[in-house]
Amino acid sequence: MKRFVKPPLTRHKSIMTESILTDSTLTLPGGTWPTLEPGWVWLCGAGPGDPGLMTLHAIHALRQADAIVYDALVSPLILEWARPEAEQIYAGKRGGKPSAKQADISLQLVDLAHAGKRVLRLKGGDPFVFGRGGEEAQTLIQHGVNVRIVPGISAGIGGLAYAGIPVTHRDVNQSVTFVTGHDQRGETPDTLDWDALNRASGVLVIYMGMKHAPTIQKGLLDAGRPKDEPVAVVSQATTPNQQVLETTLGAMVDDIAANHMEPPAIICIGRSVLMRQVLDWQALARGETPRNLDPLGRGKPAEDR
Ligand code: SAH
Repeated sequence: MKRFVKPPLTRHKSIMTESILTDSTLTLPGGTWPTLEPGWVWLCGAGPGDPGLMTLHAIHALRQADAIVYDALVSPLILEWARPEAEQIYAGKRGGKPSAKQADISLQLVDLAHAGKRVLRLKGGDPFVFGRGGEEAQTLIQHGVNVRIVPGISAGIGGLAYAGIPVTHRDVNQSVTFVTGHDQRGETPDTLDWDALNRASGVLVIYMGMKHAPTIQKGLLDAGRPKDEPVAVVSQATTPNQQVLETTLGAMVDDIAANHMEPPAIICIGRSVLMRQVLDWQALARGETPRNLDPLGRGKPAEDR
């Protein structure tokens, strides 16, 4: 019996553009759009890397800002949208190092706002997801600065989507847990209760987990997670340098080293990783065929419930 029909495959086409925005005005869809006023700080997510994953509010802010304070994970392509006369200030911190500079960054934002600048604080992914955006916004508000928060696409959702991994899938998980592999001291947080995480979550999405991958692996194995649990490591997700490693919980540490996987990377632990066998849309766009049209072994088409 023929249960699945292989889809007809067409190669994906791209276009090259010069910068799409040539002046400081951006033609936005109809409606009321907030403008970045002098003395305000907009705390915006830049998404995981691909400039196409920025929000319209964030691009709009880039076209208006006098000062842009950006993080290490913000793509240089995104900064090309800035006005040429805008001051661009790098506020990168290496993951896992003590956050001694965090107060300086927040206070620099306060100073820029008090100087009457239109300030854009641009952070990788979503500013409120493991990005200290909450601390920065709190400091600004404590100093009487007006703030707007513009969410972004977080690497743990959008980055996995670019690898063909849905963070939730009805046949796999009814919840997903986002975990940080680093605490303020750069250590795996002592507060992580691997037994509870294992019990509660079919899918774990780990940010900043590369340095402490052995601790994460041991914690979950000791908690009873099977060695053959599927794991994906997605580095530089959504960028032209995206790399995806498919492995298992038991083999992940060795495989990360053998494949020279480097941060920034998301580690996804759970059976939703198997869906990449059918959903690796970037491979399909290159003309490859799906490896397995039914990776979860349902035995019937996806829409058949
Ligand atoms: N606010 C960000 C997360 C900042 S913490 C967000 O919402 O995405 C930094 C961690 O995010 C990195 O160590 C890595 O785990 C993850 N990360 C950010 N960008 C990434 C990318 N392009 N590819 C893979 N992981 C990424």
